[in-house]
Amino acid sequence: MTFIRTVLGDIAPEALGVTYAHEHLVIDGGRPVELEPEFDLGDVDAMATELAEAAALGLRSVIDAMPCDAGRNVTKLADLSKRTGVQVVAPTGLHHDRYYGPAHWSHRVSVEELADLFTADVTVGIDAYDYAGPVVRRTTFRAGIVKVAGSEGGLSARDRRVFEAAAETHLRTGVPVLTHCEHGAGALEQIRVLRDHGVAARHIVLSHVDKVVDRGYHRELLASGAYGEYDGSFRWKDDESNGTLQLIRWMVEDGHGERIVLGMDAARRRYYKVHGGGPGLVWLLDGFTRLLADGDVDESVRRRLFVTNPARAFTFAAAPSPPT
Ligand SMILES: [Zn+2]
Repeated sequence: MTFIRTVLGDIAPEALGVTYAHEHLVIDGGRPVELEPEFDLGDVDAMATELAEAAALGLRSVIDAMPCDAGRNVTKLADLSKRTGVQVVAPTGLHHDRYYGPAHWSHRVSVEELADLFTADVTVGIDAYDYAGPVVRRTTFRAGIVKVAGSEGGLSARDRRVFEAAAETHLRTGVPVLTHCEHGAGALEQIRVLRDHGVAARHIVLSHVDKVVDRGYHRELLASGAYGEYDGSFRWKDDESNGTLQLIRWMVEDGHGERIVLGMDAARRRYYKVHGGGPGLVWLLDGFTRLLADGDVDESVRRRLFVTNPARAFTFAAAPSPPT
């Protein structure tokens, strides 16, 4: 029996529906907000309003991408889901090293210990205190992805340990892996390292890769069987020159339309209407859907990008996945 694990419980993959595959619905303090006040997305009332507007256009599910001790607040994520009816998948894992600093506990624990923490988030419940201190109080809200991040120029020694812990967590639980590719690069190395540690490519989603508008790079990474998460669409011009649109057209032409999922990675206040900015969380279902339609990306392809691909990508592995 395959399933997708949302904060409010497990669902059948067919129940996922229209999905944004990399968002930041809640960033509740922590080092990211200390470094950059624009990251402060702690206001649940505001986000419920923004989310409801996207839900009115058909949004059914959101994959949240803020892992341990970097502003994750699973109680707030669960609250948002209850209030809006939008299904939310919460992450475990660790973000980029810059969001923790050199004295962070994650530098001192072993790969096994990291995997134990991630596994408990997936199988028991995410810590109400978000692994920010020595006291752990598990909620009933479980993680449905493990999120990890690479650095500029490739995986650092620290990143490698975190990737190994994510792979170990996947092997124990079947949880899919969502990665951050710095400036969109490094996806092929990330796939290689995860595969070397036993994760089949079909359980890996690589984020931000559309920052690199290179047909050969995308062909190779999608041909591996992994998924590319494209979230730059609103950062380009709203016309034919849009890099995300260009890549989608190329990859559909090259036969890889089954391997792309879409998100916004809208991690700043200024992207949200409720905070006085734009384009708002409706963008993918509103402006970008129009751009796709005008760019000859037809309804059946759009359905794959928004519905069938994420339903496959975020499904737990039924059994420890043999490398492919
Ligand atoms: Zn992100």
